[in-house]
Amino acid sequence: MNRVDPNFKEKLKPFGIGNWNECYHCGNCTATCPHTEEGFLFPRKSIRTIQMGLTDSIHKNVDPWLCYYCGDCSESCPRDANPGELMMALRRYLTTIYDWTGFSRILYTSPLALIIAFIMVAIAILGMGYVKNFDIHSVMEFGHRFEFIAILSVAAIILFPNILRMLWLNLIKGNDRAPAVSYISAFWDLILHMFTQKNTLKCTEKRLRWFEHFILVIGYLMLLFTTVFLNWFGTDNMCTIILGYTVGVITFVVTFLFIVRRLRHESEISKFSHPSDWLFVIWLFLMGLTAFLVRVSIDAGIIDNFLWLYLVHLIILAQWAVLIVPFGKWTHFLYRSFAIYIAKIKKDALVKQHEKESVTVAT
Ligand code: SF4
Ligand code: SF4
Repeated sequence: MNRVDPNFKEKLKPFGIGNWNECYHCGNCTATCPHTEEGFLFPRKSIRTIQMGLTDSIHKNVDPWLCYYCGDCSESCPRDANPGELMMALRRYLTTIYDWTGFSRILYTSPLALIIAFIMVAIAILGMGYVKNFDIHSVMEFGHRFEFIAILSVAAIILFPNILRMLWLNLIKGNDRAPAVSYISAFWDLILHMFTQKNTLKCTEKRLRWFEHFILVIGYLMLLFTTVFLNWFGTDNMCTIILGYTVGVITFVVTFLFIVRRLRHESEISKFSHPSDWLFVIWLFLMGLTAFLVRVSIDAGIIDNFLWLYLVHLIILAQWAVLIVPFGKWTHFLYRSFAIYIAKIKKDALVKQHEKESVTVAT
C-alpha cells in the first residue's frame, strides 16, 4: 500500500525551490529530457508523485539521481514549474531518507545546526593542535592519520549502511524482481558511470560541462589518493610532488569556474543555488587551494612559520570529511552510481514482466 502525505509538498520546500503546483502535465519536460525512456518518464512522473504525496513511491524513486541537471526541461516548461530544480530538491530529500543517522536532514534543513557543526569541527582541530603543543610536525602527523581514519570510518559507519538502505528501499521493498544475472551484470554499469558520468553526454550541447565534471572527479580522486595514500605533504618523491601540484591546481581551477558561474547565474542550472551547493564547491575549492599552498610552503622550507596555514587546511579537510562527504552533496556521486545500478535492474524487471505478459496473452 502506498502512503499518502497531503503535506509532502510543504516538507520538500527546505530542499529546493519550484512552483510544482503549477504543473498541469503538458508533458513538454518529458519530451525534452534526453534521459526519458520507458519506465523512466523524467521529470513529470516525479512531479505527479509529489503532487499526490505518494511517499512510498517517492522513496523508491531513483529518477532524480538519473537526472544530470542540464536545465532543458525547466527552459521548456510553459508554467515555470522548474522541473529541473525539482529533481535537485528530490535528490537532497532522498539523501535524508537513506541516511540512518538523521544528520543529513538536520544539516539540509537547519542552517544554524550546519554552522554549529562546522564550528565544532574547527574547535576540535584547534584543540588537537593545543594538545600537540602546536608543533607543526606532530600536527601534520596527526593530520595524515586523521585522513585514513576519517575515510574508513565514514565509509563503514555511514555510507555503507546508507547504500544498503537505498538498495533495500528500491530492490526489496520496491518489489522489482529481475533475472538473477541482472544483479551481477548491472555492477559494470555502476563502475562505468561512477567514474565517467557518461550519461551527461546525452544532454545536448553539454559536452563541455561533462568534460569539466569528468576532470573534477578525476582531479579530486587523485588529490585524495596523493595526499592520503602517497603522503604528499611528507614525501620527497618528485613524481608524487608534481602529481599532487597538478591535481591540486585542477581541483581549485575547475571549482573556481563553477563558483563564478553560480555567482553570475549564467544558465538555467545556476539560477538557484541551495546552501549545500555552495558548501560543496567552496569547500572543494578551499581544499585544493590550501593543499597547494601547504605543499608550496614545505618546498620553500617555510612550513615551520606557517602552522596556521596547515591548521586552516586541516579544518577545511575535517569539515569536508566528516560533514560534507557523509551528509552533504558529495553523496550524490555515490547515490547516482547506485541509482544507475538499480535502474538497470528495474529495466530488466520491466522487460521480464513484458515477456511474461506476452506469453500469457499468447496462451
Ligand atoms: S513542462 Fe512544466 S507543466 Fe508541462 S509537465 Fe513538465 S513541469 Fe508540468
Ligand atoms: S534537468 Fe535535464 S536531465 Fe534533468 S530532468 Fe530536466 S531535462 Fe532531464
